[in-house]
Amino acid sequence: MDNRERKQGAEKKLGAEKKLGAEKKLGAEKKLGAEKKLGAGKKLGVGKEAGTREKILVIDDSAVQTEHLYSILKEDYEVVRCQTAQEGLRAAKDGNFSLILLDVIMPDMDGFMLLQELKATELTRHIPVILLTSLADIQYEERGLLLGAVDYVAKPFSPVIIRARVNTHVQLYHYQMEYREQAMVDGLTGVANRRRYEDVSRNKWEDAMRFGLPLSICMFDIDKFKLYNDTFGHPAGDQVIISVAKSVSAHFQRATDLFARYGGEEFVAMFMGSAGKSAFEFMKTVRQAVEDLHIPHNSPVCEWVTISAGGVTCVPKAGDSYDTFLKLADTMLYDAKRLGRNRVVWMGENGAQWREKD
Ligand code: GH3
Ligand code: MG
Ligand code: MG
Repeated sequence: MDNRERKQGAEKKLGAEKKLGAEKKLGAEKKLGAEKKLGAGKKLGVGKEAGTREKILVIDDSAVQTEHLYSILKEDYEVVRCQTAQEGLRAAKDGNFSLILLDVIMPDMDGFMLLQELKATELTRHIPVILLTSLADIQYEERGLLLGAVDYVAKPFSPVIIRARVNTHVQLYHYQMEYREQAMVDGLTGVANRRRYEDVSRNKWEDAMRFGLPLSICMFDIDKFKLYNDTFGHPAGDQVIISVAKSVSAHFQRATDLFARYGGEEFVAMFMGSAGKSAFEFMKTVRQAVEDLHIPHNSPVCEWVTISAGGVTCVPKAGDSYDTFLKLADTMLYDAKRLGRNRVVWMGENGAQWREKD
């Protein structure tokens, strides 16, 4: 990568960050946690055939109604019953529900208020809600749908209609979760993609600032990769990208780690809690692990495929700039390339620089 490309890359990065800054911060980590749980773990399809039983939450102050719904749905779903809105809200936040059936009229908090609360809460806003209405409150349907309910069913219930609507919405929910998850994953390597990185990186910066923890960011780039493609062909190059991603991502498995494909043959990692020097040492083992894959290359750098890595560690303080942090990592990578490739260059908390193989 030459200077011009690096500059263009930096400009692109800044554009993306501005966009990100303008977006409302939603606690991306939590959101992704929920998506992972809901999307990846379960197979599409509902009912007994799906292997795992979907969880459905029924919130209705009438015990007769909750029992009735339970008896209709228990064959195909794991049904949790709550008889107050408060209890329902607590259960919704704790449980991994694929659908909520919510009564409109309840004594403590009505269904609309609860619906608003569910839609305003990060942990629950993705769960589809079907409203349960009686003939007397059918005029409320419009309001419920405007507040974010996906559907309604009128009492007295027809078991066939209830099952059909529940099945449809659980299935739609799964498609939606799968789609959202796919949108965050790199198609070639299966690791997080650039979008996911943009989504969570600033949250990590803010977390590190709040907890006073050192935060490290590392940019990786495969050495002389254009030459690899020219020699072995693009499909072989793709396999190298997959192998490198697999090797490096194995080192970033803690819940707070983030490893993503940044684009092309570049990757980025963010991790918390390590002092600069140990982050540097750690990254040397990551780099060495890629060399030790012994993927033949005809590069002037090494007989095997290698990566260069540049990173920085700091304890973010109020007034520090995330953009500067990111640019420093990029500069360290540029230094690693300039100094001969297949090496790690790192900047520590106090501005000290460590260079592998110096
Ligand atoms: P350097 O050591 O300076 O990084 O040299 P380089 O050749 O790796 O750098 P450069 O940025 O000039 O070239 C990157 C190459 O990566 C060019 C492009 O064809 C290749 N590349 C980017 N994305 C993919 C991909 O998804 N698959 C394959 N096979 N190649 C890719
Ligand atoms: Mg590159
Ligand atoms: Mg490269």
